[in-house]
Amino acid sequence: MDDRRFHPESLMMSYGYKPELSEGAVKCPIFQTSTFVFKSAEEGKAFFQVAYGQREKRPNEELGLIYSRLNNPDLQILEERLCLWDEADECAVFESGMSAISTVMLEFLRPGDVLLYSKPVYGGTDHFINKVLPEYGIVGLGFTSDQEAEEILAMVDTLNLREKVKMVYVETPANPTNALFDLEACKFVADTLTTAEKDVVVVVDNTYMGPLWQHPLKHGADLVVYSATKYIGGHSDLIAGAVLGGSKYMKRVRTLRTFLGNMAGPWTGWLLMRSLETLKVRMNKQAENAVKVANFLESHPKVEKVYYLGFIPEGTRQYEIYQKQLSCAGAMLSFDIVGGEAEAFKFLNSLKLMKLAVSLGSTESLAEHPATMTHSDVSPKDREEIHISEKLVRLSIGVEHFDDIIWDISQALDQI
Ligand SMILES: *Cc1c(COP(=O)(O)O)cnc(C)c1O
Repeated sequence: MDDRRFHPESLMMSYGYKPELSEGAVKCPIFQTSTFVFKSAEEGKAFFQVAYGQREKRPNEELGLIYSRLNNPDLQILEERLCLWDEADECAVFESGMSAISTVMLEFLRPGDVLLYSKPVYGGTDHFINKVLPEYGIVGLGFTSDQEAEEILAMVDTLNLREKVKMVYVETPANPTNALFDLEACKFVADTLTTAEKDVVVVVDNTYMGPLWQHPLKHGADLVVYSATKYIGGHSDLIAGAVLGGSKYMKRVRTLRTFLGNMAGPWTGWLLMRSLETLKVRMNKQAENAVKVANFLESHPKVEKVYYLGFIPEGTRQYEIYQKQLSCAGAMLSFDIVGGEAEAFKFLNSLKLMKLAVSLGSTESLAEHPATMTHSDVSPKDREEIHISEKLVRLSIGVEHFDDIIWDISQALDQI
């Protein structure tokens, strides 16, 4: 029994924390401190040698606590716990999902490089790729879920960019339509473009599935990124991000984080540890509710089409990817309302329990209008290509009683 491997949810209350170092407190306290006292000058020297990479850690040597921009117990323990879900070597927590994503892009891309990315990506990511990176001479080239690996490679060849691609960045399922991308195909594209001179790093934004329902590192991703604001935080009360992966790339991510100084603070780290204790029960409840809501919407006369992962028809390419990559249909869905913007707005304005707000993955159910809110920055051509029309409404399902959620949706649809 000694070597039993506990499930991640069993370890979220205690893993990585030693009560004897904190007066026996059963929970990790908030280490609200900027700096840490060394026992001796020799110890300070030894800690810095490891932190600045001047020597490797000795067997069983733990990284000493130095200064909260480099490390802090609330971040370090949180990072060890996050690693358990994705079975990652290392994790780095950031002050937002965007700081996690932008730090990864800045670390692995240089002027002249090309970034292949799945379309659509989160609005902030889209802005960073198409408005910020070009200022540094970095070019983004998008592909959609309809394109096979060969087509993506042909597109790269047509533009004569084979030598320049350094990253494949994928968000799957795509927000807000739940289109799926095949991660093994993305890995194949990256491997095909890898040469002796350059790596091509595969990065996957797994925010939509949280750390529970999809594990991109097992399907060829080198790094996985999260907006921890969403399912990981889960209570709409904080902003945070995380990056996980193998040590080879994580060392570089962590080093840039140290010098950009965009790590999360101890208070956020503490809140996230608290959130992780209920991650699995929250997400499972949300997914159970989502099935019921999806079924209700599917048969409603004022609903034209429901975009829900549980409704992908068997025998399709999308279904094959679903079977391979996902263990659950999740708790995000969207639907085309009969009508257009006026009907969608009437629906949103009539909700009594669900909140009209962007963001997702939280305990309370949220509703929004992608075309005029989260995705209003996406070009009209791209919006049409990825089915974000005026009649699309996105829902993030929470942990309320499903009868109340369905009652609310039903009465709001009746107002149209
Ligand atoms: C919210 C979100 C982000 C950005 O995260 P922040 O924590 O808001 O900075 C990135 N990717 C996806 C898929 C998101 O939903």
